Amino acid sequence: MTNLNICIDIDGTVTDPYYWLSDANRYFNRRVGIQDITCYDIKKVMRIDKDAYDEFYHLYGEDIHWKSAARPGTKEVINRLSLMHHIHFVSARGKNLTDMSRDWLKQEGIPSDSVSLLGSSYKVKAAQNLNCDLFIEDCLSNALELAQAKFNVLLVDCNYNRAILPPQISRVYNWSQIESYIRDFIFKKKKQLA
Ligand SMILES: [Mg+2]
Repeated sequence: MTNLNICIDIDGTVTDPYYWLSDANRYFNRRVGIQDITCYDIKKVMRIDKDAYDEFYHLYGEDIHWKSAARPGTKEVINRLSLMHHIHFVSARGKNLTDMSRDWLKQEGIPSDSVSLLGSSYKVKAAQNLNCDLFIEDCLSNALELAQAKFNVLLVDCNYNRAILPPQISRVYNWSQIESYIRDFIFKKKKQLA
C-alpha cells in the first residue's frame, strides 16, 4: 500500500476562493467581481493600501474565515483520502487562528492528521518537515516555490493563478479531479517501485 503525506492549503483550496469578496466590497465600498480577481494580492485587486487592508482583516478576518464555505466535494474526497493517506493542512493564516481553523474543519466534516498555520506564505520548510508527497495549493507563487524545492504540486485553478506551469505542477479544476490525479499518482508510484 502506498500511503502519501498530502499537504493541503486551506483558503481557496478547501474553501471557495472568493468567499471574502462580498464582505470586502461592502467594507471598502467597491464593486469588484470574481472575474476581476486576476491577482492573488487582495490589496491590488481592491486598490487599497496595506494599513486599510490590515484593519479590515483585524476586524473581520476571523469571522470571514469562520463563515466560509468549502468547495463542492471537498469533504467527501478528503474523507476517502484520509482512509489511506495522511492529511496535513498547511496554511499561511496566523497561528492565532489555529483553534478556529480546526473547529471549522471539524464543522465541515473534514478530517486531518495535523493543522499547521504558519503565519507566512513560505511553505517549503513545513512541506519538508511533513515529508510531503503532494501539495495541494491555490497560490501560484507558493506552488512555484514548492515545485522549485522538488515537491509535486496540484494547483487548484482560480482566476488569479493562471500561468504556464513547470512539470512538477499540475492544474486541477475541482476535488473530483484531485482524487483522480492522486489515484494515477499512486499507480505510477507503485509501478516505479515494482
Ligand atoms: Mg490559499
